[in-house]
Amino acid sequence: MSDGSIGAGVSYDGDPLDLLVVAAHPDDAEISVGGVIISSVTAGRRVGVLELTDGEPTPQGTVARRASETAAATEVLGVAWRGNLGLPNRSLQPDLEARQGLAEVFRLTRPEVILAPYWEDAHPDHVAASRLVDDARFWSKLSKTEMAGEPFWPPRLYYYFSIHLRIHPRPSFVFDISDHIDAKMQAIGCYQSQVIEGRSTEFPTLLDDIRDCSRYWGWTIGRAHGEPLTSREEIGVGAFEAIC
Ligand SMILES: [Zn+2]
Repeated sequence: MSDGSIGAGVSYDGDPLDLLVVAAHPDDAEISVGGVIISSVTAGRRVGVLELTDGEPTPQGTVARRASETAAATEVLGVAWRGNLGLPNRSLQPDLEARQGLAEVFRLTRPEVILAPYWEDAHPDHVAASRLVDDARFWSKLSKTEMAGEPFWPPRLYYYFSIHLRIHPRPSFVFDISDHIDAKMQAIGCYQSQVIEGRSTEFPTLLDDIRDCSRYWGWTIGRAHGEPLTSREEIGVGAFEAIC
């Protein structure tokens, strides 16, 4: 379709995005790169978030509740756009239909930078989402197709780390989120059904873990808080500010 609509419930007719975060589930983006998002919005960048599924079922959640929690978190993030591709939670597959839907999002939103889940994860949906982003990035540039939008190759693709698999990643760089850690935690706190209810209140809670991880990554770069990101491709820089 060429009217800016893609699949069920997703439409976009705005200016190109500077940054698009693709996540399997609502709350993944806030937990892994909430600081990058808020920092970029604060710097005047046009930021979008796309969830591939609604994240349900979960023990404490409902579809309606997850949507309202997501809306509250979106207010905290201040992003220009947020969409949901409506793919199946728990059984997400990097199939052709999903690839086309995601490629259409790339062609319509035309992001300068995409953030995707890291390719190694305990959650199969995250692994599928990572593969889907890789595949849709390539499809996004194809001509002579029925896909919505114009051919587009998203120039930069970085991967963020989830909390399910307790690996020690080797990031390509760490993004300084020191000024935005409180807003990040506020955004995550909107997902009461996921991060608070039904969880242990003993130290360390899930929220303690998330904050302490960001503190650790901040320590690695001599700052208060940070979020690690990696890339399969080399990262070019064009200004001294990018290396100091
Ligand atoms: Zn997830």
